[in-house]
Amino acid sequence: MRQIVPVPCGRFAPSPTGPLHFGSLVAALGSYLEAKARGGKWLVRIEDVDRPRCRQEYADSILATLAAFGFEWDGEVMYQSRRTARYREVLETLQRQGAVYPCGCTRAELATAPPGVDGAPVYPGTCRGGLPAGKQARAWRLRVSGAIDFVDLVQGPQHQDLAREVGDCVLLRADGLFAYQLAVVVDDADQGVDHVVRGADLIHSTARQIFLQRLLGFPTPQHAHLPVAVDATGAKLSKQTRAAPVEARDPVVSLIAAARFLGMTPPADLCRATSADFWSWARENWDLARVPKRITAPVPTPDNPHRHNA
Ligand code: GLU
Repeated sequence: MRQIVPVPCGRFAPSPTGPLHFGSLVAALGSYLEAKARGGKWLVRIEDVDRPRCRQEYADSILATLAAFGFEWDGEVMYQSRRTARYREVLETLQRQGAVYPCGCTRAELATAPPGVDGAPVYPGTCRGGLPAGKQARAWRLRVSGAIDFVDLVQGPQHQDLAREVGDCVLLRADGLFAYQLAVVVDDADQGVDHVVRGADLIHSTARQIFLQRLLGFPTPQHAHLPVAVDATGAKLSKQTRAAPVEARDPVVSLIAAARFLGMTPPADLCRATSADFWSWARENWDLARVPKRITAPVPTPDNPHRHNA
């Protein structure tokens, strides 16, 4: 009998809250090269589940920049904003399991709770045993317990005590929108993603995502969390802090800077090459084992593309 071997599958999952900036280019490049090195597919998913923060024009501009840079994705782009029915179905499964509960607490009531690993308050458990008298259900929370261990392919062994370090997290928000934590787990499973390569700012979310995967009987992908790009003040580059968009006029310069950031050593003459030359060099030379855990120097600017190596 012939065994069916699943095709490896990676993805890049930007939130369209701004144009593609250097930090997201790094995530796109790392996830793309790793998927290709595994002989796999590479998907693009637009994570616009948090609708008030997302704009279609940013999704269009991110996709146009990826295409202009020579990234080739497989299949149709998935949009989280079109997947509400599926998220609802999965939430109903969790409700039947008693794995989630309604919560009536307001943001103001939680403001004094001590922060967890990701800076958000650890839920004190007010509604865990049932809605207290006088409270109305606003959101649905995941009942977390125990510890999760996993080995990150870049950051090494990880351990998180969910109740203490994160707490019961929201899966359906008070404004009726599903939370990233639920959407990402459902989408990765539905799309057959078997390895997740993304920025290390998301590493604190991974344990609760593994917890959810186990509850739902979904496979857990392998994880590789890439170093996070910081600006001159040491803050993470993000679309919310209005990080400069990548320089679309000269893709090779930006791609080379992203490759260096990921521990690659492009030859000096590559910056005068075409993007086709860049891609064949990058695919031949990609090595996840050479990606540094973190980078403390500010990312290169368009006028000084090699600055972080100084
Ligand atoms: N949408 C997230 C972001 O843009 C990435 C989520 C993920 O890769 O799991 O930061």
